Amino acid sequence: MVTADRIAEILEGYDELVIATVCSHSSLQIFHGARVEGFRTLGIAVGERPKFYDAFPAARPDSFFVVDSYEDLTHRADELAGMNAVAVPHGSFVEYMGANAFLGFELPIFGNRRVIEWEADREKQRVWLSAAGVEMPAKIERPEAIDRPVFVKYHGAKGGRGSFIAKNYEDFLQFVDGSQPYTIQEYVIGTRYYIHFFYSPIAEEGYTLSRGTLELLGFDRRDETNIDEMYKLGAQESLKKLGIYPTFVVTGNVPMVLRESLLPKALEMGERVVEKSLELFGGMIGPFCLETIVTDQLQFKVFEVSSRIVAGTNLYISGSPYSDLLEPGMSTGRRIAREIRLASKRGRLLDILT
Ligand code: ATP
Repeated sequence: MVTADRIAEILEGYDELVIATVCSHSSLQIFHGARVEGFRTLGIAVGERPKFYDAFPAARPDSFFVVDSYEDLTHRADELAGMNAVAVPHGSFVEYMGANAFLGFELPIFGNRRVIEWEADREKQRVWLSAAGVEMPAKIERPEAIDRPVFVKYHGAKGGRGSFIAKNYEDFLQFVDGSQPYTIQEYVIGTRYYIHFFYSPIAEEGYTLSRGTLELLGFDRRDETNIDEMYKLGAQESLKKLGIYPTFVVTGNVPMVLRESLLPKALEMGERVVEKSLELFGGMIGPFCLETIVTDQLQFKVFEVSSRIVAGTNLYISGSPYSDLLEPGMSTGRRIAREIRLASKRGRLLDILT
């Protein structure tokens, strides 16, 4: 793991900060937000310079840094440091680079890297969320004990790939890939809402926590193929007879607003998860998402926390119904850049970069 002293040393050699991220996931939003906040931007491209940014000039990075592979990127942090780069991590960045390489990557990263240790391992994630007093789907300890519909998932963010529903042990055996660590949860029936938060350890006004403030920037739900369209073809059992099985691969995101009476609950959950993170590992800094299912008893069950910008925030590049009440036009990407700007002005970069 890169030490705080090493990051401080790298930052000492910087002049104007440049915001960099890998060209994927939520990069349009990150580059656009950084530009609006007056930063220069750098796109890290794997393989070749991507053409698709030419279709979105307001979000095109000022320059590109092309690497052969994520493996190659892990060895080139010093070149990026030579360009004054501060990296903004997103799901693809961390998943493809790999948690260990990411922890050792010698470049200032927005947010607290230590969160990875608590997030990447679903068991530790459960310890954190449960200790925060947030309700989660029940865990089934052994596949032989499956006594109701369950959801089986692997570790790390896979955009839903590989996860499956099993009704019993036989189903489990049929679909499981035993070569990877997995978790079995009860299958919760309800509506899936993804809550976009931003935790600032340095802001002082707003929804205050023991240290800093919490902002609620928006909500989305995901389009997942092919589960979301399966209802059109009838009941699952008949589908299975036809050899059609539900999959959960994310293909897009849909905007939504929450029933207003649920907003206090959403904020309290965010607050508790951040407070516990401060206690456990020094805090989850910047954007994060609680991935929830709301039951017909109006209870939230949190099935996952993503401790960085999630792709659902791409819906709100020009603001959401909630972020508009903080400041019109504030996307999560722009909020990240704003935080870096604020910390830089106050000489507190080491509170938000690790
Ligand atoms: P990412 O990390 O990119 O969010 P992932 O692959 O880690 O994706 P999972 O936790 O596997 O995400 O969940 C994928 C999808 O499965 C969710 O979006 C949701 O539709 C569904 N899901 C997850 N857990 C449950 C559960 N306990 N009950 C019902 N559905 C679930």
